[in-house]
Amino acid sequence: AAAPRATAPQADRNQDSDTPRVPLLDVRGLTKDFPLARTTGGSRTLRAVDNVSFTLNHGEALAIVGESGSGKSTTARLVLALEKPTAGSVHINGTNISTLRGAPLRALRRRVQTVYQNPFASLDPRFTVSRIIEEPLRAFRTDTATRADRRARVTELLDLVELPPHLATRHPAHLSGGQRQRVAIARALAPNPELLICDEPVSALDASVQSRILTLLSRLSTDLNLTCLFITHDLPAARDLCDHVLVMHTGHIVEAGPTDRVFEQPEHEYTRELLAAVP
Ligand code: ADP
Ligand code: MG
Repeated sequence: AAAPRATAPQADRNQDSDTPRVPLLDVRGLTKDFPLARTTGGSRTLRAVDNVSFTLNHGEALAIVGESGSGKSTTARLVLALEKPTAGSVHINGTNISTLRGAPLRALRRRVQTVYQNPFASLDPRFTVSRIIEEPLRAFRTDTATRADRRARVTELLDLVELPPHLATRHPAHLSGGQRQRVAIARALAPNPELLICDEPVSALDASVQSRILTLLSRLSTDLNLTCLFITHDLPAARDLCDHVLVMHTGHIVEAGPTDRVFEQPEHEYTRELLAAVP
C-alpha cells in the first residue's frame, strides 16, 4: 500500500481548512539573533531564541515559563510575524507565516490576537472603551460591519469579560488596572481569534487583581474553547491555566510536557530551581 502523504504540504495549499491533524501552531527550530551593541565590538550577536520547537493543537492551552530574559516574548513576536527568524519557521494551520504578504498577513493578524503585560500602555488613552474594543472590528472588516452591529458586539464582549455596560463610554484613565486588562482581553477576543497569546497578562497588576484576571482567562479558555499561548514567569498561574508547559532558559526549551508531570516530576535541574523559588 502507498505510504500516507505528509499533511503539511497539502495544508499549505488550503490554509483555512480545518484539517484536524495539522496543529494550529507548529514552531520548528526557531532561532533569533539580535546584534549586540557596536561598542562590544564586531558583529557579535545575542541568541535570544535558540532552536525552539513545539506544537499547539486547537483548543489547547500551552504555557511558556521562564525567568525574565529567557526569550519568551521574542518567541511570541516571532509567532506574530513581528520579527523575522534568523532560522527556523512558524506554521499556522500548515502555512509558513514567512510566506504571507498583504491580505493573508492581515488575516493572520486577525486570527492571532495578543494581550500584553501592561494595560496602561496598550490601550489608547484618547479612545473610549467602546471604541477600543471596536477597533479590531473596524480594522479587519469582520461580519460586524454596521455601527449597530459593532455596538452590540461591544456589549456582548463587556459582558463576557464581566464589565458593566456603562463602562463603554469611559476612557482608560478612568478605569482600574484590572478593568483595563479586561478591556484588553475583550479587544483581543472581538475578532474571534483562533489563537490568543497572553504575554505576562497579570504581571503589572496588584496580587488580588491578578487572581481575578486569571480566573477570567481560565473561564474564557474553557467556555470559548480558546487556543492559548500563555507566557508567564508565574508557575502557579501556568499550572492553573495550561495543559502543557515549556520551560525556557537562555533561549532554549529545557523541558516540555504535560503541566502536571513537569511540575510534579521535573526532569531538568533548572525546572527544579524554578519550582523551588515558588513561595
Ligand atoms: P523574556 O520575555 O523571557 O523576558 P525576551 O524575549 O524579551 O525575554 O528577551 C530575550 C533576550 O533578548 C534578552 O536578553 C533581551 O534583552 C534580548 N532582546 C529582546 N528583544 C531585543 C531587541 N529588539 N534587540 C536586542 N535584544 C533584544
Ligand atoms: Mg517578556
